[in-house]
Amino acid sequence: MEKFIDTHAHLNSEYFKKDRFLVIESCLLNQVSMINAGTNILDSALAVDIAEKYPDFVYASVGVHPSSAEEDFDIEKIKELAKSKKVVAIGEIGLDYFYSSKNISDEEFFKKQKDIFIKQLSLAEELNLPIIIHSREAFDDLYEILKTRKLKGVIHCFNGNVEDVKRFLELGYYIGFTGIIFKENLDEVIKETPNDRILIETDCPFLTPPEFYEKRNNPLSLKIIKDKICKIKGEDIGDQIYNNSLKLFNI
Ligand SMILES: [Zn+2]
Repeated sequence: MEKFIDTHAHLNSEYFKKDRFLVIESCLLNQVSMINAGTNILDSALAVDIAEKYPDFVYASVGVHPSSAEEDFDIEKIKELAKSKKVVAIGEIGLDYFYSSKNISDEEFFKKQKDIFIKQLSLAEELNLPIIIHSREAFDDLYEILKTRKLKGVIHCFNGNVEDVKRFLELGYYIGFTGIIFKENLDEVIKETPNDRILIETDCPFLTPPEFYEKRNNPLSLKIIKDKICKIKGEDIGDQIYNNSLKLFNI
């Protein structure tokens, strides 16, 4: 059976509160392993708890998402969580200029986002961990920050254009593709991305590919994403994608 790694899942989210372990079991039976990504301190801690229940195949990343930039931020707590051997990355972290805050001006909000992002980049450097990056309408600022650092990582759920992808490839980043490739035309971006820099991810419970049998997305939809990428590439690069995930996250 072909092996997969969902490099960005949220089985630690509320949406899987009732049945996350059933979903994980069915993924493991189908040779689909996963990294559950944190978005705040609480769900990062949960991602670690979930990962530690399994000797292998279920991993975690810990970090505070830019949308949570107004919550109490404590880098020491993230550092503590990152001590688990099952933590393979710091993330998801980044910049999101799409949403405004209800409480503070955009200027203040985006400044906070940058501030916590930079602190978490330094933590990733200190711990020698790759980063999982979320970016929405923020590629220019993101690029300016990342080019001053020597980090490894993935631009998750990529939906920029060819010029954008070239910039991040040049910096050495991997590019993560989700079910968004069914909603937006990213064919040229996928062609531009070398096979050894492609990762696949579901971002479940969101971004369900249209052909998937369930409305709530889960890591089992990964094959649909892989098939579409291979079709665009004109060859089966499933093994390469799988090996890229092992390499980046040191699994
Ligand atoms: Zn996510």
